[in-house]
Amino acid sequence: MKRLLLLLIPLVLVFGCSDTSDLEARLAALEAENASLKEVTQTSTPTPTSSTPVAVTQVSRPTATKTTSSKVDAYPYQGTVWDPFSDVINSEDPSTFLGIAYSGKESRQMYDRRQNDWIQDTPHLFIAQYSDKLTIEVQVNSEFEDLDIARKIAFDYAWQVGQLPKVLRKGVKTLWIHDGKHPFGGGNENILIHVEQGKEYASRNLLEEVFIHEAAHTSLNWPEPLLDHGKTPGWLIAQESDEGFISAYAKQHPEREDIAESFLPWFALRYRLDRISKSDQRKILEAIPHRLKYFDAQNFAMYPVTANN
Ligand SMILES: [Zn+2]
Repeated sequence: MKRLLLLLIPLVLVFGCSDTSDLEARLAALEAENASLKEVTQTSTPTPTSSTPVAVTQVSRPTATKTTSSKVDAYPYQGTVWDPFSDVINSEDPSTFLGIAYSGKESRQMYDRRQNDWIQDTPHLFIAQYSDKLTIEVQVNSEFEDLDIARKIAFDYAWQVGQLPKVLRKGVKTLWIHDGKHPFGGGNENILIHVEQGKEYASRNLLEEVFIHEAAHTSLNWPEPLLDHGKTPGWLIAQESDEGFISAYAKQHPEREDIAESFLPWFALRYRLDRISKSDQRKILEAIPHRLKYFDAQNFAMYPVTANN
């Protein structure tokens, strides 16, 4: 039953991209990519724990904001990982990360976007420990032959994941880290990382926000083992009650991306109010008031994040 369920989970992939001029072309490319990847998923060997990663973020920087009175058209942003939310978590914010311990190399199945498929590798394994007792196995692809380099990569990403509130980390059991420049992904009790892409996200100060987005897929909006908030009556009613969506990307994929897209603005509004403008505060409040209330009502474990740090 589990395998059947996993096979039925649609495969998704979205390109992060750098400018807005070719949004339509990228959307078309995205749809084509999704279609081909879906075929891959449906024919690939099922795994004990996973389906294909839900992917990243959105397709474009938000240039033209669009809010109309029509329910189906209303959204203030193209995608929420970009400006104006890029400073919601920054490198000065605290991390729960305590340290990593090397535990050798062992065979693991990982998803690799360069192959668009599952791979079997013998990655370097590191156990990352966090101050709230959570642990994550960090799997660094064996292509990083130098252990010191692998350790540095594992350390840096494990530290950044430690900045996420507990509610977003509790579903993350592993990190898959590969070389290459392909979108990050969430789901599968995992966050998928491609190092060259990570450098680009970091250069735009978006890395922490991408982690929020992907971890929201993994911990809040995935079929198992945690509660899939996207399927709860409360969330579905909230979606229906709001006038529209927070972003074009959420609207485009209301089942898959709405929670990941909406969580970051909620987080900004409740915990990082001083890092977004009054105008953006208003846009969020007007766009998704019922979704905000849904998140409020969950009493999420937010450590190490407080409204004061
Ligand atoms: Zn996403």
